[in-house]
Amino acid sequence: MIPIRKFDAIVVGAGGSGMRAALELARAELKVAVLTKVFPTRSHTVAAQGGIAAPLANSGEDNWHWHMYDTVKGSDYLGDQDAIEYMCRRAIEVVVELEHMGMPFDRLESGKIYQRPFGGHTQNYGSAKMAMRACAAADRTGHAMLHTLYQQNVRSNTQFFVEWMALDLVRDPQDGAVVGVIALEMETGELAIFQAKGTLLATGGAGRIFFSSTNAFINTGDGLGMAARAGLPLEDMEFYQFHPTGVYGAGVLITEGVRGEGGYLLNKNGERFMERYAPNAKDLASRDVVSRAMTTEIKEGRGCGPDADHVLLKLDHLGPEVINQRLPGIREIAIKFGNVDPIRDPIPVVPTVHYQMGGIPANYMGQVVAPEGAGKEAIVPGLYAAGECSCVSVHGANRLGTNSLLDLLVFGKSSGEQMMKDMRLHPAPHRALPKDAGEATRARLARLDSAASGERVADVLNDLRRTMQAHCGVFRFPDDLMKGVEKMKEISSRSQRTFIQDKSKIFNTARVEALELDNLVVTAMATIVSAEARKESRGAQARSDFPDRDDKNWMKHTLWYKEGNRLDYKPVHLRPLSVETFEPKVRTY
Ligand SMILES: Cc1cc2nc3c(=O)[nH]c(=O)nc-3n(C[C@H](O)[C@H](O)[C@H](O)COP(=O)(O)OP(=O)(O)OC[C@H]3O[C@@H](n4cnc5c(N)ncnc54)[C@H](O)[C@@H]3O)c2cc1C
Repeated sequence: MIPIRKFDAIVVGAGGSGMRAALELARAELKVAVLTKVFPTRSHTVAAQGGIAAPLANSGEDNWHWHMYDTVKGSDYLGDQDAIEYMCRRAIEVVVELEHMGMPFDRLESGKIYQRPFGGHTQNYGSAKMAMRACAAADRTGHAMLHTLYQQNVRSNTQFFVEWMALDLVRDPQDGAVVGVIALEMETGELAIFQAKGTLLATGGAGRIFFSSTNAFINTGDGLGMAARAGLPLEDMEFYQFHPTGVYGAGVLITEGVRGEGGYLLNKNGERFMERYAPNAKDLASRDVVSRAMTTEIKEGRGCGPDADHVLLKLDHLGPEVINQRLPGIREIAIKFGNVDPIRDPIPVVPTVHYQMGGIPANYMGQVVAPEGAGKEAIVPGLYAAGECSCVSVHGANRLGTNSLLDLLVFGKSSGEQMMKDMRLHPAPHRALPKDAGEATRARLARLDSAASGERVADVLNDLRRTMQAHCGVFRFPDDLMKGVEKMKEISSRSQRTFIQDKSKIFNTARVEALELDNLVVTAMATIVSAEARKESRGAQARSDFPDRDDKNWMKHTLWYKEGNRLDYKPVHLRPLSVETFEPKVRTY
């Protein structure tokens, strides 16, 4: 018998989105459990560097209309315009709220929040003048934000279950409503069912499906795996953002804030090549544009170093004062991982996988939606998703820098609000758990525990990452994609035969890694199958055989289902909430 713990609400994930949602619920005195694989302030949000977007206009003119336009354009017109309007209109509110919670933002002389420019954020609907929209705490914005949210949650009596790994959703077979999750306590190896009236998935991204990634090792797409195993689709998974400036050889991120402060990229001839690719925004063009430009420079022989396989990020001209005050973490990373001190020398950089635009389909109130009958967006009762694991979709085919921390706050808050609303609207007791709750999960664990031989988890994982890196990169080629899909099918069947030598229960990280592999396989399969099927180039998807965006045939969201490895599509929400639609046009910077 698996023990049962009852809460009003369960939040899986203690990153920015999970903690913002939990805070909303706990402040309303609901009984909230937050499950997390790591200590809350070690969640990946802690690594966010550059800033949070909000049109505060502290250092120059700005407003939410311009922010909305930039976000729609940045998404290459795949973003849902109702959700984008919602996010941009609530940006000031959530950032000021965070400031009042004690977030230690950098300050201007006037005492207002310091703001810097970031890629793709412009004034006056895409003019050459950059907006100063990124609210920053030096280059440690995520660190400051996560600690602020954690402290507020502690104050509001949120209950944290640290080093608990959620494994699967529990659904009511009657109507598919989600009634909780089954989770593994890593310390003891025991299972428990967390039963709730509302369950929020906030498990972050899955950048670890690629070989070279800025993401933490815990970013294994667990929420995506849980949703897909429960029969729900994953949306727009083909769109993975490559950040232009990962440290060459290490993948550690150098924030776009460096270019926001005035740094720029050089090829082996010392040429500031972005002037050719994006005459207006130059180094602050949107990330997909800069990553492709860098890859082209390297491919055409203008890369730096003995193997001509990277470019250089120059910032010494900013001077030691700016570097030490505004970018101290970057200097440390460059010294430790790039072996250069940016006060004197440029940093060697390459595009590195960074952010997942797709995820679990959700509306802007955090409710998970999936096709049912004739409708494409029926609400899944009891299930919510926020943060990088969700696809709301505000980022469409390409996310603008600093819009993710904003999305965590806006949709973390709105999903908390919606969960409360739903509970108050239907003030019923907890639904009964299905009789076989947790059986499928137990069977997964039993297979692992009884297997005496099979595939090594590390081997399957390495092959998965190498396959994704080689077959689904910055530029995508038809043959590579097709071969990649076949390889992933093989990897998927190998993952069913994994085996762990260590069968002990107490803090068995081998078991945790084997369970994470199931989620990585789901995420990688969804990504490459969706990418192979989309016959156009848009945002982060750049195909050699279909180099142009094709709005007639492909202005639609992809939905991938684990069962049958099949695809479906649904329309983009082109109608905003209160303003006119931003009609698609050619995207130049
Ligand atoms: C290096 C770096 C720098 C960045 N800088 C910026 C920036 O400056 N501005 C910006 O807007 N965006 C930035 N981003 C993107 C942004 O930081 C992330 O998208 C965002 O922090 C993700 O937050 P999250 O709440 O969705 O998830 P995370 O912060 O990743 O948290 C996920 C949580 O889920 C938990 N979890 C996962 N699986 C399970 C499970 N099975 N059971 C229990 N718990 C689980 C984890 O323990 C963790 O608590 C950056 C990203 C990177 C990688």
